[in-house]
Amino acid sequence: PAPTGATTRSSTASAEWFERAHRVTPGGVNSPVRAFNAVGGTPRFMVSGRGAWLTDVDGHDYVDLICSWGPMLLGHAHPEVQAAVQDAVTRGTSYGTPSRSEVELAEEIVARTPVDQVRLVSSGTEATMSAIRLARGFTGRDVVVKFAGCYHGHVDSLLAEAGSGLATHAVAGTPGVPAASVEATLVLPYNDRAAVERVFAERGSEIACLVTEASPGNMGVVPPEPGFNQFLAETCARHGALFVSDEVMTGFRVSRQGQWGLDGAHEGWRPDLMTFGKVMGGGFPAAAFGGRADVMGMLSPQGPVYQAGTLSGNPIATTAGLTTLRLATDEVYAHVDAAATTLSTAVGEALDRAGVPHLVQHDGSMFSVFFAPRVDRVVDFAGASSQDTSVFRAFFHAMLDRGVYLPPSAFESWFLSAAHDDHALQHVIDALPAAAEAAAQACEG
Ligand code: PLP
Repeated sequence: PAPTGATTRSSTASAEWFERAHRVTPGGVNSPVRAFNAVGGTPRFMVSGRGAWLTDVDGHDYVDLICSWGPMLLGHAHPEVQAAVQDAVTRGTSYGTPSRSEVELAEEIVARTPVDQVRLVSSGTEATMSAIRLARGFTGRDVVVKFAGCYHGHVDSLLAEAGSGLATHAVAGTPGVPAASVEATLVLPYNDRAAVERVFAERGSEIACLVTEASPGNMGVVPPEPGFNQFLAETCARHGALFVSDEVMTGFRVSRQGQWGLDGAHEGWRPDLMTFGKVMGGGFPAAAFGGRADVMGMLSPQGPVYQAGTLSGNPIATTAGLTTLRLATDEVYAHVDAAATTLSTAVGEALDRAGVPHLVQHDGSMFSVFFAPRVDRVVDFAGASSQDTSVFRAFFHAMLDRGVYLPPSAFESWFLSAAHDDHALQHVIDALPAAAEAAAQACEG
């Protein structure tokens, strides 16, 4: 049943749960971005999800444009994923021994991507943390290069913000990360070839790896300029550094082969290491890092670089992930791409009509909207930061009131699924004129 699109939705029960949550959990949430700090108000406590829809504790339905921050490519409670998980659970939930579904999931990842081998872990953070350790172990070097605005999980050495200038010694992005942890991290502006060339010319022999989001989605969607990833791969190779492509968000989402399917597969290069998460866990905690056989061979127990995990390759998580990937056919990707085109076009038109300056940027089916940015095109974090977040805030709440759950931050990708059918899309489209009007008023204010 679809919601009616009421414009005032009570959030009494969510507010009560939020208050309870605050007493026992810092900020009332288990991951900061779920709180509404950037937009104000009360996050909704969800009790169920089905297809493209979520239902909250107050009984309201929402079209979900978060999709669990990426994983739910098939939509919520997909019957075949559910059945596979239910079947797996009857055989126990964790063995602490090798099991078949982890091999099958690894085979599926190796078949879809250019990696020779993978190691399964439980979160994207673990995947990038382990990939960095492996790159350092393999090269015998310490320095890591990353880009401002790229998020790779809450790994100490990668929680670094850029200062201004071309290559700054990173400043820790949070208290609790010792200066020593980011001393060997260099942060550059995204899409800036000259900055990359300069830092490799100066420090190339010290650089273990360059890590980048394959197509950044954590500063809003800021795709690589054509050929940028290839340039990074070649630059790393020239200096004996490893190219680590983080596909935790894009992997198995923007195409069958992730972002690499959109660039590397055609341009004829491959990353030395890749990281995956989100979609490959089918809504469960499963992630992976993988790459060249000679690099992966350095990993314990085959090699000297230690890495481990009690729940790594968990049979339920790997069953959910494997079933999801097997169901993620070309038709699924075609549907999600088309839905993204329909929706992003409608958003752009609604904002145009209301006179709200904006930019819609895409990477395959991932897209985001920059409200009142001071640039013509967002190519890096500075450009993304030039938007007016108060305009997004007004838009966000108007959409929420009309039953559309957007990511509660202007710096996030919007996500769709195979379950976002015409009905769900129309519900979002119907909410747009009023939300665009609210955004226009925020622009004036
Ligand atoms: N890398 C990228 C590109 C991500 O988007 C994320 C999470 O959003 C991570 C790594 C960290 O993954 P996780 O939240 O599973 O630790």
